[in-house]
Amino acid sequence: MERLDGKLLSAKIKDEVKAGADSYKQTPILAVLTIGDDEASKVYVENKRKACEYCGMSMMHFDYADCVKESVVIKKIKELNKDKSVNGIILQLPIPKRFNTKKILNTISPDKDVDGLTDISQGKIMGGNATFIPCTPKGILEIFDHYKIDLEGRHVVVIGRSDLVGKPIMLECINRNATVTMCHSKTKDLKKYTKDADVLIVAVGHKHLIDKSMIKEGAVIIDVGITRIDGKIYGDVNPDVEEKASYVTPVPGGVGPMTVAMLLKNTFIGYKKQNNIED
Ligand code: NAP
Repeated sequence: MERLDGKLLSAKIKDEVKAGADSYKQTPILAVLTIGDDEASKVYVENKRKACEYCGMSMMHFDYADCVKESVVIKKIKELNKDKSVNGIILQLPIPKRFNTKKILNTISPDKDVDGLTDISQGKIMGGNATFIPCTPKGILEIFDHYKIDLEGRHVVVIGRSDLVGKPIMLECINRNATVTMCHSKTKDLKKYTKDADVLIVAVGHKHLIDKSMIKEGAVIIDVGITRIDGKIYGDVNPDVEEKASYVTPVPGGVGPMTVAMLLKNTFIGYKKQNNIED
């Protein structure tokens, strides 16, 4: 069994982004909007700020109280869309329920949608020609590439059907010629599917939902889930799968750090496109 080391790989990617950003005159800028007081979001945004600083990018943070009017947030996004110095815009999720998340997300220009969550970006994934693949699925694809895990002809089982993770990774695996099964909370007899997975991607948010009795010998296990209990972080997959799997992403240190690295990579892609810089 080999651990898929997202921490090491993300450090390499951040260094590549840094080298690119250092060679251009202007500093790439990422704008982050937050609404409300979500504790986990504060940690994620701080991590994004540190990662931007490390790579020679700037992060602008627009932090709104949950009493803010939706129109104020939308006006700000429209301003940022027009601002030529801003290369990427993200709305940190979740936001309080009273807001129309889709409407706010879809205000972001598809050219600056570095989280890949606007309808236009999501539709482009369907066509296999996305400019911005959402950061977590993109991070998983980078892990597959780095560790030379070929998906062609293999059975990939994805658990979780969110726009953020499950649906885009399902489409990207199909684009890589995998045969994909999508499971969710209404799936009956989950084990029937997980037992047949050559590659199992779990994005649920349920501590240790999957254990070794549910996987195939030699399977590749990608654990996206994060559950915090008493300050400790747990994945969706019980570490006992290491007895049977060929590859496993640890939690923490697997998919999580890759997500942040992909945000930087996407922002840099935005910067290059907006400044007509060829690869
Ligand atoms: P989400 O929007 O809450 O989606 C969860 C999905 O899991 C839903 O499709 C749900 O099914 C399904 N589900 C719930 N209980 C299930 C069960 N018992 N069996 C099978 N499927 C079940 O969550 P998300 O945004 O995709 O995130 C998923 C997890 O990944 C969370 O723990 C989140 O914190 C983590 N995450 C980690 C990273 C990272 O960088 N590591 C990034 C993003 C998310 P229904 O659709 O039927 O409700």
